[in-house]
Amino acid sequence: MKILKIDHLGIAVKSIDAGKAFWTDILGLPFIGTETVAEQKVTTAFFPVGESEVELLETTAPDGPVAKYIEKRGEGIQHVAFRVENIEEALAFLKEKGVALIDQVPRKGAGGAKIAFLHPKATNGVLVELCER
Ligand code: ZN
Repeated sequence: MKILKIDHLGIAVKSIDAGKAFWTDILGLPFIGTETVAEQKVTTAFFPVGESEVELLETTAPDGPVAKYIEKRGEGIQHVAFRVENIEEALAFLKEKGVALIDQVPRKGAGGAKIAFLHPKATNGVLVELCER
C-alpha cells in the first residue's frame, strides 16, 4: 500500500458557521464552501493548507458519528486522513495484516473521494481515514 500524504485533519465542531472564523479570519485559510454527505450525516467544510487541508465536520443528525464524538469528547480532532494511491489495494493489504477496519469496502466521501475508516482499536486510538481522489 502506498500512502502519498496527510490529506486532511477532520475536526468535529458544533457549528461550521461559528467555528470557521478562527480558520479563515485568524489563520487566513481560504474557505471554499460546505458539502453535505448525507450517508455520513455530516456537513463538511475544507480549508486548504499547503499540500493538506483542515476539514471541519458538523453533524446533520443527533445520532450521527460527529454528534456522538462531540457528546463523548467535545469538539476536537476526530480523524486523520491519509491519501493513498489505490484504496482497494490498501484495504486488501490491511485485511491481510489483520488490521480491524470499520469499512470493508470504500464508500463515498466529500469531494467525490473514495474513503474508508480503520478501527481506532488498531491505530492507538486514532480514527484513521484512507482516501483516494
Ligand atoms: Zn475526512
